[in-house]
Amino acid sequence: MPARTNSKSRSRSRGRTKSASQSKAVASTQKNGSSKARKSRSISPPNIVDDSMSVRVSRRIQDKIQRELSTSISSDHSPGDMVRKSLKITETKVEKVEKKPFNSPAKEVHSEPIAFGGAVGGAALTIFLPLVVYALVIACDKSNGCRHDRIPFIPKRWQQYFDVKIFGVVLGWYVFQAMLALIPLGPVVKGQVLRDGRRLNYRCNGLLALLVTVCVFALLYFLKYDMSYVYQHWLQFVTASIFLSFVLAVFLYVKALNAPAKDHAPESTGSMFNDFFMGLELNPRIGNLDLKFFFELRPGLIGWMLIDWSLCASQMRADGSVHPALFLVTLFQTIYVLDALKNESSILTTMDITTEGFGFMLAFGDLAWVPCLYSLQAYYIYTYPQHAVSNPYALGAICLLEIIGLVIFRGANSQKDQFRNNPNNPAVAHLKTIPTATGKKLLVSGYWGLCRRPNYFGDLLMATAWSLTCGFVHLLPYFYPIHFFILLSHRQMRDEAYCKQKYGAAWEKYCHAVPCRLIPYIF
Ligand code: NDP
Repeated sequence: MPARTNSKSRSRSRGRTKSASQSKAVASTQKNGSSKARKSRSISPPNIVDDSMSVRVSRRIQDKIQRELSTSISSDHSPGDMVRKSLKITETKVEKVEKKPFNSPAKEVHSEPIAFGGAVGGAALTIFLPLVVYALVIACDKSNGCRHDRIPFIPKRWQQYFDVKIFGVVLGWYVFQAMLALIPLGPVVKGQVLRDGRRLNYRCNGLLALLVTVCVFALLYFLKYDMSYVYQHWLQFVTASIFLSFVLAVFLYVKALNAPAKDHAPESTGSMFNDFFMGLELNPRIGNLDLKFFFELRPGLIGWMLIDWSLCASQMRADGSVHPALFLVTLFQTIYVLDALKNESSILTTMDITTEGFGFMLAFGDLAWVPCLYSLQAYYIYTYPQHAVSNPYALGAICLLEIIGLVIFRGANSQKDQFRNNPNNPAVAHLKTIPTATGKKLLVSGYWGLCRRPNYFGDLLMATAWSLTCGFVHLLPYFYPIHFFILLSHRQMRDEAYCKQKYGAAWEKYCHAVPCRLIPYIF
């Protein structure tokens, strides 16, 4: 699933606040200190190193740095001062320990699989998640009534699940999108600095791909192609998407086994099931095509939007109009996709790109979970228009909720983006901050003073608005905001663990100043 921010070039600002080698020393300092704290890990992943060595700093010195630098909440310490201060301490105590070649194929193994329950959790989720998709799709099929309180009729014939032609359509869709992604138009943006000091290039032409795709869609509509095709063959599309996400995950796993250890993600654990699920390689590529960047934003996300559009187009053709609730949910979700593609480069600083490997979790999320389940509200309204909200006041209230969610979502992401790009930007310079030992600061007022993940909060409000268009007859159309709350809570905890590692006492100070995690004043 895609993670989205609006931080076009955070790394550039990092480059401005400290020199590369200084950054490396501080980052290594942080990293080693925290990995010592996590004693159960036998071997840590490759550290950020300078040209010839790794550095190690004792836990005691770590604590000293944290104490010295994280003593107050302020908005007037310059990042340069903080970095210089931390480096002064670091430089006097750092000792050379070992030379660690990056290209060694040796496996980097952790003894402690951290997220999603390790090997057992990874294996269980690999089986369970596709079943959830099937269960919801089948339950909301027109013959089953979208009831959560009875076991749905399950199609028995394999042909109802599988059609080779549909496989061809779905595969053709991926290839079409890959070709659009490879068009040499649009800006090339640099990714974050990798552990070996490289920065990869990413071609950002998502809006162009969207434009071409929409033109093709319009052409098909005016050529009178059957717009209900996807709806009529929904189960077969779902099977094709799930199957192809498995194929992609197996390919990625095999590819990663042959990749040098330096290309592996920091979370790789050495357990086969866990690595298959979480992904082993950080930035797998085929030629110029960065697979994770591509699959995060293109086939699944644009596909989701087109599924909604096909339902509207089909209803328009059949009835001469589109149900207002279907129109609204399609509009909301289109804005969401547009926003993601407009701010495409910002995904380069999200957890998914910087930290997670590309494995089954993301492949399945991108290719099956997003298009098959995020379109559930539109699918439901199309199938059961009698249950959807049609009262104009209620629809107006839903629009209001969507707008509030969108403002918070975009505002929070942009505020952090502006701050990370240039803390002296007048739009954010007045905000209160907490200095950290890395030289970066944490925002503690504005959106980021409301709760620790205001962008998630905005996202959740929008998710709720989408489901409210479905009315209150059935529970299953509310699957999206319910699961999203769980997903984002878990994601917040995982990211918080990273932040605690990165920022130590400063992060704790932030948590103290902003006690709510996701929902202001409540949670
Ligand atoms: P964020 O954009 O919130 O990024 C987290 C990072 O922000 C942290 O690692 C830290 O990085 C920085 N940060 C945290 N707190 C502060 C602070 N107080 N001040 C300054 N910087 C801070 O998270 P994600 O990448 O998870 O999400 C991005 C967007 O994607 C969100 O809007 C989310 O709702 C959306 N999303 C959507 C999904 C979907 O399926 N639709 C799934 C997941 C996410 P650092 O300090 O290094 O800069």
